[in-house]
Amino acid sequence: MINIDNSTMEKYELPKLPYGYNELEPHISEEVLKIHHNKHHKGYVDGANALLDKLDKARKIGEDLDMKSTLKALAFNIGGHVLHTLFWENMAPKGGNVDGRLLESLNEQFGSVDRFKDEFTKAAASVEGSGWAVLALEKATGRLLVMQVEKHNVNVFPGFELLLVVDVWEHAYYLDYKNVRGDFLKAFWNVVNWEVVGNRLEKA
Ligand code: FE
Repeated sequence: MINIDNSTMEKYELPKLPYGYNELEPHISEEVLKIHHNKHHKGYVDGANALLDKLDKARKIGEDLDMKSTLKALAFNIGGHVLHTLFWENMAPKGGNVDGRLLESLNEQFGSVDRFKDEFTKAAASVEGSGWAVLALEKATGRLLVMQVEKHNVNVFPGFELLLVVDVWEHAYYLDYKNVRGDFLKAFWNVVNWEVVGNRLEKA
């Protein structure tokens, strides 16, 4: 038995939503938001904590773990938690306008906000299977990039600052929009909290 104690370390926690479950309606229904937050996101939080416990326990008793499958599952669950947390924060019942440095940067680098939205929407619409579209800042060059993340952790550029994310797993829209992911993405633009996205860029 090795004497290690990580039991006092913080656990991942399901964050509270910054709005009520019914407040993103009609764009995202109360039912979808509840299930998405309380079941899906919670599942990633619990999964991440369970895997960290498993690693700690194995270290204590000197148990051999299948590192490949354990770490794959850990990346999936932590990625899910981090992305969902960003997602809830970058939405709001009243989305507001793009302004400040974010507006300048989008105009400079994409030509217009509409062109950015078009690229982002196309990236989100064409994610194969389950995944996300992300607007990220490459801090080394100042370049804004759209990422097409598969699952929660594939095709992520490490170290990039994530500014805006949208979940395009079927659980994010199927009950509201059936198989028409494009309608969900159209609706999503109505609830983007541009102030939060702008603040993320300022802080990056
Ligand atoms: Fe999700």
